[in-house]
Amino acid sequence: MVENVDEVVSILMVDDHDESLLAISSVLDPLNQNLVKCNSGEDALRQLLKRDFAVIILDVGLPDMNGFEVAEIIRERDRSRNTPIIFITGINKDAPNVSKGYSLGAVDYLFKPFDAEVLKAKVSVFVELYKKTELVRSQTEQIFLLRERERERELELEREKLKFERMVLLSEKEAAEAIAKKAIELERSNSELKQFAYIASHDLNEPLRTVSSFVELLAKDYKGKLDENADQYIAFILGAIARMKEQVKGLLNHAKIGQSSSRVTVDCGLVVDKVLRDVQSSIQQSDAVLEIGVLPTVKGVESELRLLFQNLLSNAIKFRKEGVSPIIKISAEEKGDGWEFSVSDNGIGIDLDHRDSIFEIFNRLHVEKEFSGTGIGLAHCRKIVELYGGRIWVRENPEGGSVFVFNIPN
Ligand code: ADP
Repeated sequence: MVENVDEVVSILMVDDHDESLLAISSVLDPLNQNLVKCNSGEDALRQLLKRDFAVIILDVGLPDMNGFEVAEIIRERDRSRNTPIIFITGINKDAPNVSKGYSLGAVDYLFKPFDAEVLKAKVSVFVELYKKTELVRSQTEQIFLLRERERERELELEREKLKFERMVLLSEKEAAEAIAKKAIELERSNSELKQFAYIASHDLNEPLRTVSSFVELLAKDYKGKLDENADQYIAFILGAIARMKEQVKGLLNHAKIGQSSSRVTVDCGLVVDKVLRDVQSSIQQSDAVLEIGVLPTVKGVESELRLLFQNLLSNAIKFRKEGVSPIIKISAEEKGDGWEFSVSDNGIGIDLDHRDSIFEIFNRLHVEKEFSGTGIGLAHCRKIVELYGGRIWVRENPEGGSVFVFNIPN
């Protein structure tokens, strides 16, 4: 392979006469290339097996096989099919021989005695041509090699990508399986919990009723007959029993939320009207002012929606500032794929720290003496809203007080 145009290439000279070979080589010496001399066709073919030649100068009248036969074999081989052959002859000047030479792919046909300058010029052209062709070939080879390497790299990259994607798929699958497993566990523990809450609250009623009846009997039959503290103790017990009854009732109601599976289209405007009637007396007592906007219809269970609005509304009235009449606004606006409801008041407001915990069951921020209650109302609200696929939260009312917001998707 010729790496650059200055490199030495080989020229094959075939003639059975040493003096002819000497004459040709003395002509070509100044070209400074590797001159390979052969006396026979067989020797020439042997040389051609060893290396490639830029040009072959071939005597037609060789003793073993003539130049044309040698040329025929040269042309049969792939590697030498296009090697230029210059025939040299001292005898076959006749036209049929010349045309035979050309038909065998000779690039030239020279007659002895040949013109040294002409031979040198011709050979030098073929040497240059060979060098250039080799250069192009080697560059093409390099480009091909580079392309191959690039392709290999691309394939490697593709393989890595596939490996990575497989890993991602696998870990996604594992994660999905873990989530599904967790969901099943949660579902099970959730339903166990629901059942427990229901059974516990239901079963608690029975001993509570017994305790309550006997303490009431005690209060009735022994009032003033025991020592001076006894009446007061009994009164405390009766108060605690009443609260406990409320709590058990609340717990039972909480467990029942979501048990009715038939959701229908419910008009929230009508629901709020009914709630207003239920809390009519506390509205009047507190001088509350109510602003009710246009409320939409949603898919739900009427009793649950009633419980939701009733808890929010009665809290808005209950947690009012002393000496300030409650101003309560209920509104709704379409947002995303559902409705966002707001119940705002001008009451005592809620500390930032407690804005999440108030939705937990039995969580209260005040003692019974300040504001009565069981601490279960907002837990009802959250359970109902979440059951409908929504969320409930509270924020500060810029005009003072709180705004309870919840959304219900369509
Ligand atoms: P309850 O009203 O029986 O105490 P809730 O679950 O309804 O129980 O409310 C939990 C707590 O959240 C209340 O005790 C009160 O501290 C706070 N809260 C609820 N609504 C309001 C409100 N509108 N304004 C201020 N505080 C409120």
